[in-house]
Amino acid sequence: MTFLDDHRDPTAARAVLDAIAGLAPDTPVRLMEVCGGHTHTIYRHGLEQLLPATVGLVHGPGCPVCVLPLGRVDDAIALAEREGVVLACFGDLLRVPGSRGSLLDARARGADVRVVYSPLDALDLAVARPERQVVFFAVGFETTAPSTARTVLRARDEGVANFSVFCNHVTIAPPLRALLDTPDHQLDGFIGPGHVSTVVGTTVYDFVALEHGLPLVVAGFEPLDVLTAVAMLLAQLREGRCEVENEYERVVRREGNPVALALLDEVFRTRPAFEWRGLGTLPDSGLALRPELAAFDAEERFGVPGATVADPRVCQCGQVLRGVIEPWECKVFGTACTPETPIGTCMVSSEGACAAYHEYGRLHRDVAVELGRDRA
Ligand code: SF4
Repeated sequence: MTFLDDHRDPTAARAVLDAIAGLAPDTPVRLMEVCGGHTHTIYRHGLEQLLPATVGLVHGPGCPVCVLPLGRVDDAIALAEREGVVLACFGDLLRVPGSRGSLLDARARGADVRVVYSPLDALDLAVARPERQVVFFAVGFETTAPSTARTVLRARDEGVANFSVFCNHVTIAPPLRALLDTPDHQLDGFIGPGHVSTVVGTTVYDFVALEHGLPLVVAGFEPLDVLTAVAMLLAQLREGRCEVENEYERVVRREGNPVALALLDEVFRTRPAFEWRGLGTLPDSGLALRPELAAFDAEERFGVPGATVADPRVCQCGQVLRGVIEPWECKVFGTACTPETPIGTCMVSSEGACAAYHEYGRLHRDVAVELGRDRA
């Protein structure tokens, strides 16, 4: 299959669903879709309703905005409120709550916060406004880090001295390790993230099979991609195999993208530790600019408060990100916490599980009961 329509073809979907029905285990299994993009595909197309009752899907920590801790949002706001600074960021970061409100609130108080569509837009802004310091608020996994890296090198090569990056890029393997190191994780396999794997390849997931004895299938984002990945995972479980397989072969190579990986290596170093929302501080999980590029590192140029701030007590994003609870199980889901009034990050980003549940009407336990998957 090559084209988008092929991956939404009802006849092909029925064949995959027949295969899934034949492979479904008698006892329940829990498969984690790591990426928020998969979560949206599942609910947008009603895939959960098509699966046998013994095949449950849970959401993982692969939404980059959702895993951003409160303290880093506060740091971004502190940068934005500095005299002479323009903070440039993607639109979905505007409403992420910090302990003193969001960047949108900071903008209402007078901070110069601009929405950009790429790091290069932020660099263009710096070139156009040489009297201001433009800071790009960089978030995301290895998927988006190469474009930040390319922009930093361009700023260096073109001598744009008023541009810097507040770097919050993270890497995909450490949160999976953290989940699997939790003794009671109750996971039986992973639908591996598609986008980030185009950069990192599939070898980074080998530890899932080799050290934890679980299967992982990297998948694309169309309905048939996700269903096929589920079938491949169930086939592995039935046959007693645990391997890293690649459903997304039309895009993902086992070795990843060597050009992008070289770019990451040239620009970034791995931080010894980085804080994640809901997962705590994970070793070797965050990226920072290399010392030779410190002139473009906003943390070096301006300093940031760097405080660790606890999530609000009512917020259960951490449990949602670890697949421990479903969004509707959070006490404030759909009441105090809505897309219009988000308390946690999972309700803000277009990739957040709470946002997906809310948007596609998965609002309460009734659906889980109907599907025979109620865990309560
Ligand atoms: S409903 Fe809101 S507070 Fe609760 S887990 Fe979701 S985003 Fe976090």
